[in-house]
Amino acid sequence: MNGKGKYTYASGDIHDGEFKDDKINGKGKHTYASGDVYDGEYKDDKKNGKGKFTFANGDVYEGEWKDDKMNGKIKHTSLLDMAQEQHFLGEIDSARVMLKRYLDVKVKQGHSQCQSCHQFCAQDEIMAECSVCKVARYCNTAHSIEAWHNGRFCHKVMCPFLLHWRKTNEGKDNVEPSSIAILNDFFESLDVA
Ligand SMILES: [Zn+2]
Ligand SMILES: [Zn+2]
Repeated sequence: MNGKGKYTYASGDIHDGEFKDDKINGKGKHTYASGDVYDGEYKDDKKNGKGKFTFANGDVYEGEWKDDKMNGKIKHTSLLDMAQEQHFLGEIDSARVMLKRYLDVKVKQGHSQCQSCHQFCAQDEIMAECSVCKVARYCNTAHSIEAWHNGRFCHKVMCPFLLHWRKTNEGKDNVEPSSIAILNDFFESLDVA
């Protein structure tokens, strides 16, 4: 394939952009089967150059990429920050819906992003997993230790909610945000912290 085009992969991914010698080269928009979207520059099938990665849950990472990895300064728009802001403004329903989307994607997708440094790992890379929630993944155990205390949404805060969310969702397709008490507990635990 050469030139501009749209290609659907066996995985369900769709790429709309520039191809050269059957590889993605140049600008393109890649929509993953999971609902995640990367819109930006490529070289030889890998993210290289400027680009914006939007997770299905609304988390956005924008900046420079090199061989599929984030490189240098990346702007991160966090759905958790947005949810907390909505909660603070008294938009409780909106806050709950955002938090549910955040947790859904974390729990249901086999994501390949380190929850400490936020780096993207290759699909075949072996990642460390939190042994308690079995949801959070890391580049290595050093990053999992750092994540436990670092930041407002450190894993010490997030772990019980991810665990609860995984168990609540097991065997269920969809859980109504209005029916789940832990969504309120989440915001209350942050207010205290
Ligand atoms: Zn990491
Ligand atoms: Zn955990």
